[in-house]
Amino acid sequence: MTVATLRSVAALKAAGLVSDALAPQLAAVEAAYAIALPEPLARAINRSNPADSIRRQYVPSPEELDIRAGESGDPIGDARHSPVPGLVHRYPDRVLIKATSTCPVYCRFCFRREMVGPEKGESLTRTDLDNIFAYIQSHPEIFEVILTGGDPLMLSVARAREITQRLEDIAHVKVIRWHTRMPVTRPDRITPAYAEALSSRKKAIFLAVHANHASEFTAEAIAACRLLAEQGIALVSQSVLLRGVNDTIEDLSDLMRAFLSVGIKPYYLHQLDAAPGTAHFRVPVAEGQRLVRTLRDNLSGLAVPHYVLDIPGGVSKASLALPDIERRDDTWAVRGRDGGIYPLTDD
Ligand SMILES: *Cc1c(COP(=O)(O)O)cnc(C)c1O
Ligand code: SF4
Repeated sequence: MTVATLRSVAALKAAGLVSDALAPQLAAVEAAYAIALPEPLARAINRSNPADSIRRQYVPSPEELDIRAGESGDPIGDARHSPVPGLVHRYPDRVLIKATSTCPVYCRFCFRREMVGPEKGESLTRTDLDNIFAYIQSHPEIFEVILTGGDPLMLSVARAREITQRLEDIAHVKVIRWHTRMPVTRPDRITPAYAEALSSRKKAIFLAVHANHASEFTAEAIAACRLLAEQGIALVSQSVLLRGVNDTIEDLSDLMRAFLSVGIKPYYLHQLDAAPGTAHFRVPVAEGQRLVRTLRDNLSGLAVPHYVLDIPGGVSKASLALPDIERRDDTWAVRGRDGGIYPLTDD
């Protein structure tokens, strides 16, 4: 089975996803940022809804030409922490491998949008990979290796298996984590052979599924997640808080429940990074804090992700969630899920 992907404004127009009037305004967007929308995902778009959440994530908009002060092509400062090409070592005990710069889709809000796309870079060469594994081997403090990109599940089955096997041979690496959008964007690529290539009997394997709206969980996406789980791969979630996609309590609750329903533990809800031309997706922090607090007040503890920001420039992540506890003179004031404030003395 081959799956076609819409890769241009013209193709989106032919598919009825961009109007004749809008198409000319998107030429400059198309020149700057890659476009990709697999046809099955395009079919999941509700054509009669201009605000459809899948459409908003993948179909370009003239608003992307609105570049604001403070936006950056490398918002989280990857370049500053890269000792070897393709590897980012920001925290002592874990590294990122940027396995490829291509993706099955190109998200309009992507924080690495200046660096991803078919023309923006290359997959890692054999020499790059050898250098990366040599670096990891010689740094015993590296406990966890995170595969990212682009989307690392763009790699062939053979390459994915090679990475798993080479990391299995490094004794101090205990955890391998893949960050991917593939289960919800190209579930057909998650074959039994692919799931097997990611699996391991020697290391703990985690896979973070990036999805931003419950409507991304089609029957095929759910089946892909189940296949991964059957291989002993632990599934966690990753989402970005996005204006017009998941910025209501209903959409956010439905998304977290969609994750949980397929056995994915909500892990991160990211504040949008300041990549160029993404201002129309930005939700203010105070609004995000209210949404996350409401989630916490109403849903299972399992359903609540960490609400985090990558501090611009790349120092670290920071938690943005409102604390439930506050110092008041000699005691603590603790907030209950009923909204009440309760004193706590701990001395
Ligand atoms: C987010 C991130 C990680 C992983 O952080 P966790 O909090 O462990 O998920 C690792 N490296 C970089 C550069 C990151 O931005
Ligand atoms: S899949 Fe990830 S890396 Fe690729 S465009 Fe979307 S957000 Fe960016």
